[in-house]
Amino acid sequence: MDERSNIITIDGPGGAGKSSLAKRLAQSLGWVDLDTGAIYRAVALALFNKGVLNPTAELAGQMAQTLNLKFQRTGGTLRLFLDDQELGESLREPAISKLASVVSAFKETRQALLPLQRSLGQKGELVAEGRDMGTVIFPEAKLKFFLEAAVEIRAERRFWELKAQGKGTPLSEVLADLQTRDRSDESRSLAPLVKTPESVVINASHLGLEEVFQFARAKAQEVFGL
Ligand code: C5P
Repeated sequence: MDERSNIITIDGPGGAGKSSLAKRLAQSLGWVDLDTGAIYRAVALALFNKGVLNPTAELAGQMAQTLNLKFQRTGGTLRLFLDDQELGESLREPAISKLASVVSAFKETRQALLPLQRSLGQKGELVAEGRDMGTVIFPEAKLKFFLEAAVEIRAERRFWELKAQGKGTPLSEVLADLQTRDRSDESRSLAPLVKTPESVVINASHLGLEEVFQFARAKAQEVFGL
């Protein structure tokens, strides 16, 4: 099999559980998981650290182009480094989420970040999650999931996650944030969030992570003959 088709993609809106599913699935298959949202978040963080909160497309593209971003593989995890500093929880701050959503809508940013993402798929055995994995970055992937859940349910889950981290963001704010990001992801002209005809759609509104994982793993075993 061509190495590049030996890829599973997971696309879907924010807060649907893509990262958890990608990690779990990659671990169970002995593959690697790639969180592409973290790449857009890294661009946002770099701009934020420079005090740029309303970047133009040119500026965001320039930052994405010149950023010293590297992935380092440790076991089944791709760890992300910016200027040799590992990026972690700082990427998840609400201000960075908002800015990442803005910069990701610019053609200049997306074009600059495309080669890095594609290069990570060259060896196959990758579970890649984001918004345009199955449509733009890895259209040749043999298995494509679209993971969705009602926005109210995603907001509630995110609310409890934040609460567990000691952050008291009101539910109404979490919901409004997700709705804004959904709108931007779905309506942008470049690489919008869409289901491809071949996508296996999983609606996780009433499913727990374990059930979603079991379903996805069974599908992967069937498709890849594992
Ligand atoms: O998935 P996550 O919420 O971490 O993504 C951060 C931002 O990056 C999102 O707002 C989304 O619009 C954008 N993104 C994207 N394409 C991807 C992954 C994420 O536009 N492949």
